[in-house]
Amino acid sequence: MLGRAVVVFLYFVLVSLFGVFLRWSDVLGDLICFYCSHQQVPKIYDYVIVGGGSAGSIIASRLAEDRSKSVLVLEAGKYDSDLLHIPSMGLLLQNSPYDWKYKTVPQERACHGLVNSSSVWPMGKILGGTSMLNNMLYTRGHKQDFDGWFEKHENYKYSDILYYYEKLEKHSIFVRDIIFHTVLPEIILSAAEHLGYPILDDNMDCEVGYSKPKAVLDEGKRWTTADVLKQNKDENLVIQLGCMVEKVLFRDNYEAYGRLVW
Ligand SMILES: Cc1cc2nc3c(=O)[nH]c(=O)nc-3n(C[C@H](O)[C@H](O)[C@H](O)COP(=O)(O)OP(=O)(O)OC[C@H]3O[C@@H](n4cnc5c(N)ncnc54)[C@H](O)[C@@H]3O)c2cc1C
Repeated sequence: MLGRAVVVFLYFVLVSLFGVFLRWSDVLGDLICFYCSHQQVPKIYDYVIVGGGSAGSIIASRLAEDRSKSVLVLEAGKYDSDLLHIPSMGLLLQNSPYDWKYKTVPQERACHGLVNSSSVWPMGKILGGTSMLNNMLYTRGHKQDFDGWFEKHENYKYSDILYYYEKLEKHSIFVRDIIFHTVLPEIILSAAEHLGYPILDDNMDCEVGYSKPKAVLDEGKRWTTADVLKQNKDENLVIQLGCMVEKVLFRDNYEAYGRLVW
């Protein structure tokens, strides 16, 4: 009993210390952003990506593979630190300076167990975006969803989508089996088998059934799309943090020609 109380006490001490760390790393992040915004960087780019989150980071790094093109990433959030890559810390980033802290309006038909019938919608405000605070579980999108999206396209083949999934999994992101398990997955799998559900080797093809999950991890560390950006040391890719884009200006043909940033 005493042992358990000590563990709970230590847990709360660690969580409090982490809270202090988050506050100070936010201040440090402001200083780094201030320094970066006073660096000399080119004024004109071939591509400007707004948001260095899950999608934006991958798009920017792919575009920058063409060394003849220059790419600018404008990210409202700040730099991440190694400590934030401890997988269980993701939950503590919610409602911190690294979260946009969105809340829904009070719901008429949902969230009745929550304060003001309003639900929190966490979203990462940091390089890497929500991949810095999500649960890291990985699965491919379902084939039937893609079939629905492209039903009017004659040349559509799911194998084209699969090609890009495999490219992403091979070259850009780290998809791994989760190695630390309690006995719970085995119990759930045997219960599902007992009830006659299919047991799958993995959840990659989104078939209906039960399997152990795969996660986006690199040697036990949270892997985020910001890692892809940070690996790229080429001068044609510039990342500006602490840049909140207020407006994207479009021409009549929907071509973007400018952004308002502060
Ligand atoms: C708690 C939680 C757990 C989740 N768990 C999983 C999971 O296990 N598996 C899974 O597949 N998905 C999970 N998701 C969902 C997944 O993380 C998101 O769908 C995905 O990260 C969204 O990617 P995105 O590129 O659209 O946006 P984001 O990754 O959020 O990127 C948007 C980026 O744009 C920046 N930005 C926004 N507005 C501006 C602006 N005006 N100017 C400049 N920058 C701006 C933001 O700061 C952010 O960095 C989870 C989500 C949450 C909230």
